[in-house]
Amino acid sequence: MIVAIDGPAGAGKSTVARAVARALGIGYLDTGAMYRALTLTALRNGVAADDGPALIGLARDNAIMLTDGPGGMRVAVSGDDVTVAIREADVTEAVSTVAAHPGGRDEMVARQREIMRDGDWVCDGRDIGSVVFPGAEVKVFLTASVDERARRRHAEIVGRGEQVDVREVRDEVERRDHADSSRAASPLVVADGARVVDTTGMSVDEVVDRIAGLAREAAA
Ligand code: C5P
Repeated sequence: MIVAIDGPAGAGKSTVARAVARALGIGYLDTGAMYRALTLTALRNGVAADDGPALIGLARDNAIMLTDGPGGMRVAVSGDDVTVAIREADVTEAVSTVAAHPGGRDEMVARQREIMRDGDWVCDGRDIGSVVFPGAEVKVFLTASVDERARRRHAEIVGRGEQVDVREVRDEVERRDHADSSRAASPLVVADGARVVDTTGMSVDEVVDRIAGLAREAAA
């Protein structure tokens, strides 16, 4: 079974998706982390975020590995642990430009399908229910008001010990939403058959219970 969770920045997809996977005892794949890892690799190699052909080369030459363990998910590129670096501001700033390139996306999508070829998975991103797995048994579009999403992202960043103004975070969230929704290649959309879950005012546990319930119904 595939549980596809898509939605805009800061909707809480990763937190919810990981918890749903734990509740169901199945795997979890954070596809945003893959686009972030590719972006970091581009920055470290001096490749411009809009240099499509070079991005394809980087994606082919660098193995992106995700492992979900008790201490959370670890991300590595060619054996180098980049778990912390992919959340930094320079990566967040450039990732939507990198993700807009169709060739780079094809590489990422092929890897995602390969990773999730066997077994049951919860997967979160922007195009999981629309492009990567249009036949997913459960499709959810997770969203919340922009103020709520900016607050959540802000709390996450401050929780990591960084200082940032909540208005700056709101601008970044809006800029990324616009870029992700308006790009030509696999834009962020509500996939056919997706259930829209507006999490404004809902607790993480409530959202997790709702989605795990949808998955159990689909499996019954
Ligand atoms: O989920 P997260 O916010 O970490 O994703 C970072 C960026 O990666 C998104 O803003 C989007 O540009 C890109 N992305 C994507 N398709 C996915 C997952 C993420 O384009 N399936």
